[in-house]
Amino acid sequence: MSYPIGIPGTPWGPAEIAMWRSRQTKQRDFRDDVLRAIDALRDRFDVSEYGSLDYDGERFPLLAVRGRGWRDDRPVMLVTGGVHGYETSGVHGALQFLREHGNDYAGQANLLVVPCVSPWAYERIHRWNPDAIDPNRNFREGSPSGEAAALVELLAPLRGRVLMHIDLHETTDSDETEFRPALAARDGKPFEPGEIPDGFYLVDDSENPQPAFQQAVIAAVAKVTHIAPADANGEIIGSPMVAPGVIEYALKELGLCAGITGARYTTTTEVYPDSPRATPQQCNDAQVAAVRAAIGYALTHAGLG
Ligand SMILES: [Zn+2]
Repeated sequence: MSYPIGIPGTPWGPAEIAMWRSRQTKQRDFRDDVLRAIDALRDRFDVSEYGSLDYDGERFPLLAVRGRGWRDDRPVMLVTGGVHGYETSGVHGALQFLREHGNDYAGQANLLVVPCVSPWAYERIHRWNPDAIDPNRNFREGSPSGEAAALVELLAPLRGRVLMHIDLHETTDSDETEFRPALAARDGKPFEPGEIPDGFYLVDDSENPQPAFQQAVIAAVAKVTHIAPADANGEIIGSPMVAPGVIEYALKELGLCAGITGARYTTTTEVYPDSPRATPQQCNDAQVAAVRAAIGYALTHAGLG
């Protein structure tokens, strides 16, 4: 199977990237869906703009939502969504969590939620930014992704104070039909077909594994939606399953979002929205359940090393 842009075996240059970008059309509105929902939270939370992106003359403000009563002696609980704009429940799960449970931790922790890291991709239902860059391999200083650079800068002053960071994602059928073939074409590599797991799973940090924390999140989500089983090789999406519904990546080395802060407890959720057994609302509910379980575990174990 060959991707319709570029020459197989040759990495894309500016012409191929421009052609790719010209094929991406706006399919939904960041302002209507996300900014309006954040506006409705302003009476209960502190909303700030931590940066903005300008693409083809269109400005996308980047917004962070903080719980009231922020105190420096309390641990920070960080929730990020929409690092991959097409992963819808990451964005809407973060917003639903704020609406329904964002005030549950007042007096115990400082809550910081960034519901949509990548707004241009949210509108185009894509994984990359307009330069065909995946923000989620580029969370580092001097990042070529404006989305990633702005978030790294927002979080830099909080280094050492974030106790828990949960990054909300999805693994979709379109990963296999569009995004992985596009990635192979962009990099001039052959596309190797893989398997999309049917169910929810988590990505832990191989450099700082926290198995009990991950299992607390899995147990909470299992009440809402089904957890992905391992495939015939004992793997999920090409990585060994180390515990029910859990795989590990070297988050920081790979430039992944959940590796930014150096938090003790980090996890990346992967909701499967294309399952015949999961509705969009269930996907949002699964993200909310994951966030609540992650914060709850971190609060209970805050004092332990
Ligand atoms: Zn993702």
